[in-house]
Amino acid sequence: MKGDHFVSNWMERDNQVIMSTYGRLPIVIDRGEGNYLFDEEGKKYLDLFTGLAVNILGHSHPEITKALTGQAAKFLHISNYFYNKPAITLAEKLIARSIKGKVFFANSGAEATEAALKFVHKWSKEQTEDRNGVVVLEKSFHGRTLGALKLTRQAGVYQDFPVTDTPVYEVEPHNVKALRDIFEKDKPAAIIVEPILGSGGIVTLEKEYLQEISRLCDEFGVLCCMDEIQTGVGRTGTFFAYQHAEIEPDVILFAKGIGGGLPLGGIIVAERYAHLFKPGDHGTTFGPSPLSAALGNAVIDVLIEKGQLEEGNKVASELYQSVIKLKEQFPSIITDVRGKGMMLGIVMNVEAAQVKEIQRQLLEEGLMVDVTQQTIIRLLPPLTLTSREVTLFIKAFEEKLQKVVKSNVIS
Ligand SMILES: *Cc1c(COP(=O)(O)O)cnc(C)c1O
Repeated sequence: MKGDHFVSNWMERDNQVIMSTYGRLPIVIDRGEGNYLFDEEGKKYLDLFTGLAVNILGHSHPEITKALTGQAAKFLHISNYFYNKPAITLAEKLIARSIKGKVFFANSGAEATEAALKFVHKWSKEQTEDRNGVVVLEKSFHGRTLGALKLTRQAGVYQDFPVTDTPVYEVEPHNVKALRDIFEKDKPAAIIVEPILGSGGIVTLEKEYLQEISRLCDEFGVLCCMDEIQTGVGRTGTFFAYQHAEIEPDVILFAKGIGGGLPLGGIIVAERYAHLFKPGDHGTTFGPSPLSAALGNAVIDVLIEKGQLEEGNKVASELYQSVIKLKEQFPSIITDVRGKGMMLGIVMNVEAAQVKEIQRQLLEEGLMVDVTQQTIIRLLPPLTLTSREVTLFIKAFEEKLQKVVKSNVIS
């Protein structure tokens, strides 16, 4: 039961019975506590990517555990034949922090996108003008189901799967003219964008560009949809990231952080359109699990009422400033630092293999970071991150950057 043997045993067993659709990091997690994960040997790791932007309050947060055990003792599932109290209060909280509207709950990000696609379809049928299709941005990620997949513009994900026949138009971010041309010529029904492209490489959309999207949507009668699945729930400093641009979308997609670690997703639709989804138009057995919804309520209470979002924002700004200092110190290696709040992309001007090696060395030292688009180190820390932990990461990362400088001088 000890050491590498035990660990590799689990890896071997995974290999035997789990289809290999994921690249895994070479550790087996035993438990989590606060901002740390522990492996089988008790070694501790600072979790700087929170299960891909999910554990926004870290691991085993007391308020999350309290909500979990409280709801688990009542009921886990009742079906949508009954009124779901945790879901109703959660919808009220989501609306209070976004747009006046109504919520449809699903169980994941891709399901939120599917719900949005069906809603866009219903909406377009109501328009006097013939409108069809969805505009998305280059390198966007909106999920992997056969509807959502067509909106996901990353070759390795997209591949050649048969997808929905809803037309999809791809535009380059920040190219307003291209967007206007598509709105004018192709008459799409909707645009769906991530305010900060996540898996596409932490591409922050300028405030002015988001405002232009919103303005063009008004001008041409296009439905404005924000995919906040990764950026939402306080991740970027505001409750939803579109709020930095002070716009009002028609549809908001959410998932990841909202369930406090449990699967939960959905869409918020503006009041004036919310009637378009009628009984039978959409549904899911689990959406939402009362347990996930109870956790959603706890997440919002801790972030807003208990002030964790504000606390997190202070530490996020320290993290950003420290990473910017490293960029100034190593201008030939770090070429850009992107993102907002607890969602940062450090653009590395080195080979993909070298970035992977840095990630591996950091992991060995007990620091978990993510890599996206091969050369971008992605940080998605919990909002419970502390100043001390920022220092811990920056010190270790700086050492790695020094090493890169040395090896490049020699070679
Ligand atoms: C993760 C993600 C999705 C898909 O969510 P899943 O829960 O993995 O289906 C969709 N959009 C964005 C922006 C995401 O980051």
